[in-house]
Amino acid sequence: MTHVVTENCINCKHGSCVDVCPVDAFREGPNFLVIAPDDCIDCHLCVSECPVEAIHDLESVPEAQQVFIPLNALLANVWPELSEGGDPLPNAHEWSGKPDKREFLVLPREVSSALDAWRTPRSLDSGSTSTELDLHHE
Ligand code: SF4
Ligand code: SF4
Repeated sequence: MTHVVTENCINCKHGSCVDVCPVDAFREGPNFLVIAPDDCIDCHLCVSECPVEAIHDLESVPEAQQVFIPLNALLANVWPELSEGGDPLPNAHEWSGKPDKREFLVLPREVSSALDAWRTPRSLDSGSTSTELDLHHE
């Protein structure tokens, strides 16, 4: 199993989760963090450290956030390792809890083709949420 960073981390990037991780499993992008699934040891320490409840264990990822499971794995191979959390982004408090933030996720160009497969919206139980990613590039 692993743990997964989900949508509410976008544009927040509080670093408190990173500081408690015993194996440096986090990777850092411009406005989002991910967890490397091969490094995570499922200690669960980071979950309660996230002030915006963005981290879930693999089996508890909400339906509308399932797209972040492969996204964490993919970006963990692209973004650099992070061992210290640092400060949150300047407007983190304003972005906390905002819905539909994934359109603001800044992604590297080299993974955009791999992400095309996730662009197709999926019908969810609520019928009101899409897992489609609108990609912004660095
Ligand atoms: S604590 Fe939460 S919001 Fe902050 S970087 Fe970690 S996952 Fe993202
Ligand atoms: S569950 Fe533990 S090992 Fe996995 S990312 Fe969180 S703190 Fe690191």
